[in-house]
Amino acid sequence: MDREALARLTVAGMRRTLARTRTNAAWARRLGDVHPDDIEEPDDWQRLPLLTKDDLRDAYPFGLACAPEAGYRRVHMSSGTTGNPILNPYTATDIAQWGEIMARCYVAAGVTPADVIQITPSFGLFTGGFGFHYGAERLGAMVIPVGAGRTSLQLKLMRDLEATVVTAIATYPLRLMEVAREERFDLGSLSLRIGIFGSEMWSDGLRARIERGLGIRTYDIIGMTETGGPGLGIDCEARAGIHVWEDHYVVEIVDPLTGTPVPDGTEGELVVSTLTREGLPLIRYRTHDLTRVVSRAPCACGRAMLRLDRLRGRTDDMVILKGVNFYPRQIETIVLRQPGVGHEYQVVLESDAGGDRLTLVVETEPGCDPALGARIRHDVHDAIALSPEVRLCAIGSLERPQGKAVRVVDRRRP
Ligand code: ZN
Repeated sequence: MDREALARLTVAGMRRTLARTRTNAAWARRLGDVHPDDIEEPDDWQRLPLLTKDDLRDAYPFGLACAPEAGYRRVHMSSGTTGNPILNPYTATDIAQWGEIMARCYVAAGVTPADVIQITPSFGLFTGGFGFHYGAERLGAMVIPVGAGRTSLQLKLMRDLEATVVTAIATYPLRLMEVAREERFDLGSLSLRIGIFGSEMWSDGLRARIERGLGIRTYDIIGMTETGGPGLGIDCEARAGIHVWEDHYVVEIVDPLTGTPVPDGTEGELVVSTLTREGLPLIRYRTHDLTRVVSRAPCACGRAMLRLDRLRGRTDDMVILKGVNFYPRQIETIVLRQPGVGHEYQVVLESDAGGDRLTLVVETEPGCDPALGARIRHDVHDAIALSPEVRLCAIGSLERPQGKAVRVVDRRRP
């Protein structure tokens, strides 16, 4: 589809979403006097106010839900750390939409109905498990729905049932590799060829390690509970950015401080609107994810839908220490490129009478170069002008959480 035809589809979707949300009194108050007919071109969307995570939390449970007549079939929840959780109620149409976009993601990653897909994210309120499941059903592939944890069993089933595709939270493949090493499980006995990972930031360095360790090609999938789960977009064989399914979603990049849209190519906060969701439509939702528009030109893979850069972190991940701002991904990039380093590390922030201190705890392989700590300190200073204390420890020293990895521990006094 050319961009002109896509723009017409976008405007029709925007009008539909606006009409739907205006049936809810709380939404109508937020949206003021902007009505569906006022949207004549995609840029008119910028007249509408941005929606925040707090707006969704404050609407708990269903204050901004828009399909009481159609009826809800399912609810998923986003795990926040403070206040009410964010709930997303799905209609039957929403569940079908999810299957559709997830099937597209599989196809973009080269998955076919002949593949065997092992699903390792949990099936429950978290959207990961079910999203990968619906997409696989829609595609017609065989599913091994193991869900979260049970890593030894994951490896056994993966080998014995000849799984060719693994789907996971981005750092879980590291756990698979680690347990394989502990149990002397031969990763070469697996039939895996594709990994589809997302839900947390993973640097290019981590990606290279996973691809090497598992002997697979990986694909980066994005999406969150609020947008209807994973499936908002995925990168393709060309590895030239993450395609967003623009017939279902509109993405904008805004300055995280002012909320003003920034030009293509400039990094900022990802803002998502939905065009086809019913239960919880989104209008200009601030995701806190940092990225940029890479290109709106057709991709080498043949797809015309715009491409975003891989997510580089979140606005709320930004660490401020001694007046210096940095993101954990900057540290990860430096740490993982050193030989002899394991894949677990932690950024620890502490304060005492002498002021704030930055410590990097880095797991290393036995017999690694003792000068490694000094080299990391030097490289970090070059990159962000801070000189951390680097503590090297044996592989397995840092705790392995069940879900997402804990990369920053802030023990500073408030
Ligand atoms: Zn592409």
